Order: sequence, then C-alpha cells, then structure tokens
Amino acid sequence: MATNYDDARLTRAQAESLVAVTEPWLSCDDCFEQVDTFVDGLISDGRGPDEPLRVHLARCPACYEEAETLVSLAADDAGLDEDLALESFRRSVTTPS
Ligand SMILES: [Zn+2]
Repeated sequence: MATNYDDARLTRAQAESLVAVTEPWLSCDDCFEQVDTFVDGLISDGRGPDEPLRVHLARCPACYEEAETLVSLAADDAGLDEDLALESFRRSVTTPS
C-alpha cells in the first residue's frame, strides 16, 4: 500500500537523520567547558544535556567518565542519592532530546 510505503520512507529518513547526529560535534575541550553547566542543571532540576554535548558524551568514553565523576560529586554536594543521579545521567545521555 502507498501509505505504508510512505511511512517506511519517513522512518528511513528519520533513521538517517539519527545517524547524522552521531557525529561528535564537540571537541573534548568544548565538552569540558559545557559539562559543568549540564551537571548542575541535571542535579538541580533534571535537565538533559544540549544535543551536541549529549552526542559527544555518548561517543567519548573519557568525557563520559569525567561527567560521571562530576555527577557523583554534585549529587553528594546536593545531598542526593548518587546512584539515582548517575542513573538519570546515563538516561539523559542515551536519550535523544
Ligand atoms: Zn571527549
């Protein structure tokens, strides 16, 4: 059916655009500059990272680990459960905004 075909094309286009955003847009220096603000926002009101930062964190194990450390420290400072904070961090990084 034509309708199904159109749906399939749309899905394919969406899939391709998702592939396109897996390019690491930021350098590690850019990431480092932005990650503090992201962690603050995450801890204070559950805000996710900007898409370029999210993509970088999802693809760069060094920055991801660095961010995890910051999340642990920030959660500790704020008197929050560290595991819950880390869980919401991981979810925000793996979920496209
Ligand atoms: Zn990096």
